[in-house]
Amino acid sequence: MDIRKTGEFGFIDYIRSCFNPPEGVLGIGDDCAILPCGQGELIYSTDMLMEGVHFLRNAASPEDIGWKSLAVNLSDIAAMGGTPEATFLSIALPKDAQGEWAERFISGYTELSNMFNVPLLGGDTTSSLRDISINVGIIGRAPLGKSIRRSGAMEGHGIYVTGRLGDSAAGLQAILNRWDRTPEIDSLIESHIRPVPRIHEGQVLMKTGLVGAMMDISDGIASDLRHILKASGVGAEVHLDRVPLSDNFKKTCIDYNLDPYTLAVGGGEDYQLLFTAPEGIEDILDFSVYKIGEIVAGSSLKWMVHGTAADYDIKGFNHF
Ligand code: ADP
Ligand code: MG
Repeated sequence: MDIRKTGEFGFIDYIRSCFNPPEGVLGIGDDCAILPCGQGELIYSTDMLMEGVHFLRNAASPEDIGWKSLAVNLSDIAAMGGTPEATFLSIALPKDAQGEWAERFISGYTELSNMFNVPLLGGDTTSSLRDISINVGIIGRAPLGKSIRRSGAMEGHGIYVTGRLGDSAAGLQAILNRWDRTPEIDSLIESHIRPVPRIHEGQVLMKTGLVGAMMDISDGIASDLRHILKASGVGAEVHLDRVPLSDNFKKTCIDYNLDPYTLAVGGGEDYQLLFTAPEGIEDILDFSVYKIGEIVAGSSLKWMVHGTAADYDIKGFNHF
């Protein structure tokens, strides 16, 4: 086993092969683990943010980092259609982040906690030699047997997303390349540093009883959809020209000569929901969803542009 060769997901598969979850429990492989509990089920997830990998201290405010560390966890609860109940925060702080930085971080974390009414119930605090590292654990709840997994996609289902893709990836490019700040660029950066988890949308989708598979878009659908396909044993055709894009994003791609499709499906950190369902689900929802493709037989992901197969080789984000 060498993670430099297997990649992030090969290592996760290796860990998975070392453990057998108890009967009725869903372990490694989905957005959250699922543990039946009384009349319902508990769902649990944890996510880590490392300075230099997930954020740069000089490019995002402490409040924004506090917000985002909670947002990415809430998003995993949204991906199951669950209701978040409580969070736990573990943080390692170097000397130069132990004063004002730490206080401002908690202020951003609190702001989003209050927005979704999710209390912080515990955690751990240590010092660190150089970099800040943050880990958030989250517990949510769903009715027994109702959490939506990655494994329920069925041939004939439409593939949907809950919002426009690519703004966050473009915002990251703007930060990294220090693009001139305009209201348009500021709005893309805002999408990157302050994603809003789709808790309401996830719950409504769960309650319809129609959704086959669902996950949140963290690494870009080029990577994320493949997880659904693998878990469900199906293939997909995605129409790149139907992927919803904001006007801001389209204009920025022209201005900076970027391929909008590659950025929108390969960039990631949109924290929208990606789900499969019978066509027509859009008519019974109180929010917009966008159909971008279909689940088909097989196991491959085919990109289409204007109805014909396109020769795109897009990979999502992988840590190794
Ligand atoms: P997400 O992007 O939704 O947070 P990841 O891609 O990070 O999910 O992880 C995929 C799955 O692998 C999840 O079920 C997660 O709990 C599990 N996982 C990731 N890293 C580890 C680890 N070090 N030990 C055990 N499970 C892990
Ligand atoms: Mg997820």
